[in-house]
Order: sequence, then structure tokens, then C-alpha cells
Amino acid sequence: MSAEAEGRDAGALRREILGRARCVVVKVGSAVLTSDKGLEAQAVGTLVDQISALHDRGLDVVLVSSGAVAAGRTRIRQSVAGAENIDFAELPSRQAASSIGQSRLMHSYDEAFGRFGKTVAQVLLTREDLKSRARFRNARNTIRRLLDWGVIPIVNENDTVAVAELKFGDNDTLASLMVDLVGADLFVNLTSADGVFDRNPDRHPGAACVPMITDIENLDIEAMCDGKTSVGSGGMYSKLRAARRAAQLGVPTLIVSGKGRLALERIFSGEVLGTLVLPCARLVSHRKFWLAYHEDPAGTVSVDAGAAKALRECGKSLLPAGIRRVEGSFERGALVRIVDLDGRHVGVGQSNYSGEELKLVMGRRSSELASVLGQAPHPEAVHRDNLLLDAAL
Ligand code: GLU
Repeated sequence: MSAEAEGRDAGALRREILGRARCVVVKVGSAVLTSDKGLEAQAVGTLVDQISALHDRGLDVVLVSSGAVAAGRTRIRQSVAGAENIDFAELPSRQAASSIGQSRLMHSYDEAFGRFGKTVAQVLLTREDLKSRARFRNARNTIRRLLDWGVIPIVNENDTVAVAELKFGDNDTLASLMVDLVGADLFVNLTSADGVFDRNPDRHPGAACVPMITDIENLDIEAMCDGKTSVGSGGMYSKLRAARRAAQLGVPTLIVSGKGRLALERIFSGEVLGTLVLPCARLVSHRKFWLAYHEDPAGTVSVDAGAAKALRECGKSLLPAGIRRVEGSFERGALVRIVDLDGRHVGVGQSNYSGEELKLVMGRRSSELASVLGQAPHPEAVHRDNLLLDAAL
């Protein structure tokens, strides 16, 4: 197919997908909204202009916005003597800066959306909030009510109280969990780059922007990002992981520059800008999604090559026979990380047995379990219905 024809097809597919969207989560990063002078009113204005246009098309919009730390940092530097020596890499300083910047951020949004006659609401969440089903439901009910009222919820991590190990890590992760929470049918990730590049454009001058990713499930994200896997520092790695989570729910993601004027409007008119990530062919149930992304694994189970292959390629359950090592102390029903003998991540799943029990039965046939454990209702260590491959926050 000629490049021109391919472009037309990609345009038609985009128009079809975007035309179907009713509820969209838009995530915007600090790099789009702020400069070293703090929040940029013009950048906020451009974003609000575009989101208001989507809202006017009848879409429900949930905005996940960073920028609080950057806005607060600049403000404190302007207003406190000696502030140039503050180390904002230190967690309490970042948290304090965020609490200053969050109100400034919301003030800017409130004013800018107000010019279009729109009302906004502040929603601050921690990972802990979404791990509890009751709080998850409360957050969902509140956001749904706001959307019913035509309000635009603006979500950020509650940095003031989020301690390091409870943090989402970055707002890409938070936004992908919001896609699940609100039942969005489109995820738009506005970034400072033009989209996803086939190679790291900082290191490879010939790198090209990829208009469409059709199989994110099998995409080697680490290789594409030059092995940069540190979750939590943003960058394309966390954006692609977030897009994969949305794709597992059947939701497409657009990764596109938030800096250009009218980017969203041009995209909704079918122009091929940025990268569209298509939903996975095999969707993940909400139950599995919840299990994999809201809990922290309580232990690690290392499996031999045969078991890793059976899990990865044949959709099998994990049997005790394939387990070689068990780390951590956990109860029956806990979430465990499954790795191969090289330490490569295979997936996460809910263990039918405790860590102590698995240590006693690893390497054994399922028929031997009852004689070792006394009571062994499950032949599998982790049933495939409770297993999500390559899932990690
Ligand atoms: N919550 C942080 C902020 O508002 C940003 C986290 C992120 O950028 O991913 O500044």
C-alpha cells in the first residue's frame, strides 16, 4: 500500500474510533504545562481551549493533570528567602511544593474553563485509595455524578500524603487506572514529544514517529525505549505501559504532543498526528485487571523454562511442578510476581497456596500435594483465570 493510501486508512480508522468515543481520559504532563518560570498561562489556555471543544462535542472528559510540584517549586523560590538552596529531589520538599502548586494549578484551570462557561472539580487520589474497593467505588460514584452534572473532574495524585511506596509513580499510571475507574472509551496522553518514535529520538537522529501501534501486547516496550524501564520517571516507557493497560481493557490510546495548538481538534477531524495505540485482541476482565494492578505482589515465584513457556505461549495455569524458588512470606490468595529463572517478568497471579506451602510442594506433581500438605483443594499453584501475563505497575 502506498504511504498516501496508508495515511488515508489510518485517518479513516482514527475518525471511526474517535467518532465512537463518549468518555475520554486526557492526561497532561508537567512538561506541557510548565516552564522554569512555573505554570504557563498560555499552555493552560491552549489545553483548556481544546478540552472545552471536546466537551462541547458532547464527550465526558476527565482530565488527569500534573504540574503541581513544578508550579509550587517556582512559587516558593519567588517568595521565600534562601529558597534557591532547597533540594526538591527530597520527598518532603516535593510534597510541600505540590501542596502549594496544586491550588495554583486548580485556580488556573478554574479561571480558564470558566471563560468557556465550564465548571471543574478537584479530585486528589492516592494508590491506597484505589486499592480499597469501597474507596474505589466512592471515587467512581463521585466522578460519575460530576460527569452527569457536566463538570470536568481534574485528577492528580494526592502528593501531600502519598508516601513513596504508595505512590502511583507517575500520572501515566494514575491516568490508566482512571480509564478503568470511569469506564472511559478513549485515553489521550498529551506529552511534550510528537508521539511514539520507533527508536529513542535523542540517540537516533533517523527515528520516526509511529502513527499506529496495532499489537501493544507483544510490543517490546523496553527495547523500543532503549531498555529504559524505570517506572515512575515518566517518559515514553511509562506512557506505553499505561497505553498497554488501557488496551487490555479494550480502550485505544492517543499519544500526541500537547504543545501544538488545536492538536486535539485536528485529530478529531481525522488528521494523523501522534500515535494511536489500538486495543488488544485479547481483553482482560475487570476482575483480573483489578487483581493485577491494584495489589502489590507479596512474594516472588521463580519458574523453570517449561513452565514459563506454558504460561506465556499456551495460556496454561502454573503448576507446583514448574516452581523452582519461592521468596517472601504470603498467605493463600495473595498476589505473587512470577519470574523465569533469568529473573525476567512473566506475570502476576493469585496464589492458591501460602509461601510456606509452595516451598514444600515446589517441583512436585499435583497428585502429591495432598500427601505433603494434608489438604490441597487446587492442583494449580496459580490458576490461569487468576493470572495476568506481563502485568506490572
Ligand atoms: N503529581 C505530580 C505533580 O502534580 C506529578 C507526577 C507526574 O508528573 O507524573 O506535579
